[in-house]
Amino acid sequence: MSDATSDVVEHRRLIVAGTGIAGLTAAIYAARSNNDPLVFEGDEPGGQLTLTTDVDNYPGFPEGISGPELVQNMKEQARKFGAQVENGVVESVDDSERPFRVTMTNGDVYTADAVIAASGASARTLGVPGEDELMGYGLSTCATCDGAFFRDEKILVVGGGDAACEEAVFLTKFASTVYLAHRREEFRAEDYWVDKLMDHVDDGEIELMLNTEVTELHGSKEEGVDRVTLVRNPEGHPTERPDDPETEEFDFDVGAVFYAIGHTPNTEYLEDTGVRMDDEGYIRTEGGDGAGQTATDVDGIFGAGDVVDHYYQQAITAGGMGCKAAIDADTYLEDVEREGVEAAEPAAAESDD
Ligand SMILES: Cc1cc2nc3c(=O)[nH]c(=O)nc-3n(C[C@H](O)[C@H](O)[C@H](O)COP(=O)(O)OP(=O)(O)OC[C@H]3O[C@@H](n4cnc5c(N)ncnc54)[C@H](O)[C@@H]3O)c2cc1C
Repeated sequence: MSDATSDVVEHRRLIVAGTGIAGLTAAIYAARSNNDPLVFEGDEPGGQLTLTTDVDNYPGFPEGISGPELVQNMKEQARKFGAQVENGVVESVDDSERPFRVTMTNGDVYTADAVIAASGASARTLGVPGEDELMGYGLSTCATCDGAFFRDEKILVVGGGDAACEEAVFLTKFASTVYLAHRREEFRAEDYWVDKLMDHVDDGEIELMLNTEVTELHGSKEEGVDRVTLVRNPEGHPTERPDDPETEEFDFDVGAVFYAIGHTPNTEYLEDTGVRMDDEGYIRTEGGDGAGQTATDVDGIFGAGDVVDHYYQQAITAGGMGCKAAIDADTYLEDVEREGVEAAEPAAAESDD
């Protein structure tokens, strides 16, 4: 057991990492179960839904609701029942002792009897030259946040899944033309999104650049992105075929680039724990049916939302998992408490004699 207790800011029954839909739903349930949750916002308060304007598929809002409003409502609901929502990024969790030691990036240390990891997933990048310099200067991973900055510009969207189709369609509101660069011929997106995309292609608002990849971004912080270098091969995945005579490289003028190429789960802070993750870093939970679905391989640490779910990745599914994690944590905390009382009872009985 560590003797470093003097640096502990506070002990809590339950700490929740993340204020996306999963973390806030967990907070609502945990607060109503008297588990006094302390909920940390991380780098993206409110999570991914704060990046979107219209949420039309969250049940209960027939007219739709904006992502930030939905998240704000949930935050208020969590606070109403007693959850404490604070700024702060969890740097590490020490599971070698109980209570867990939760260290924040600012050096603060908390202890907690249980932890819910609801830390979501972050947008991926390509790792091509120009990217680091131009991120935020014409290169973005969030169309809804930054699209309006590029009115009447040519905008290039990179990707081939739901997010890429949705972002390309959304950006037609602003762009003179949206170009969608996808490294294969076929889209991974749901039919719904492909159909919607193709409607805009038919209208001439979106042009497809299939079997095409970005290899470099050009521009400056002062002027933003002005050009990209692309490679194309009719067989797809052109960067994997640099010596193929059919691979052609060309430059293309654009005013902005939006990446929509998936997400990486935010699980670095759990790397030194016994929490099992898959190859991409998504938390592996018990799953299945019945109690304990959100349990990880470490008793007392639970996982919920996009940080676990690499498939559905929807607000409603994240919320459902947040609810389950809070219920699982409640059961765990009650069990631990009962075991502690039972362990103490014989000693108390002995001292009475
Ligand atoms: C542009 C866009 C539009 C979308 N539209 C819809 C839609 O219309 N309908 C729908 O159902 N879904 C939509 N989604 C998907 C939906 O937003 C996600 O499925 C949902 O937000 C996942 O919730 P989450 O709580 O699991 O994670 P996230 O929303 O990713 O939240 C993660 C939280 O964890 C925090 N965090 C990360 N690391 C740490 C750390 N180390 N310490 C503390 N906190 C940390 C973050 O700051 C954040 O608060 C959309 C997503 C995007 C990007």
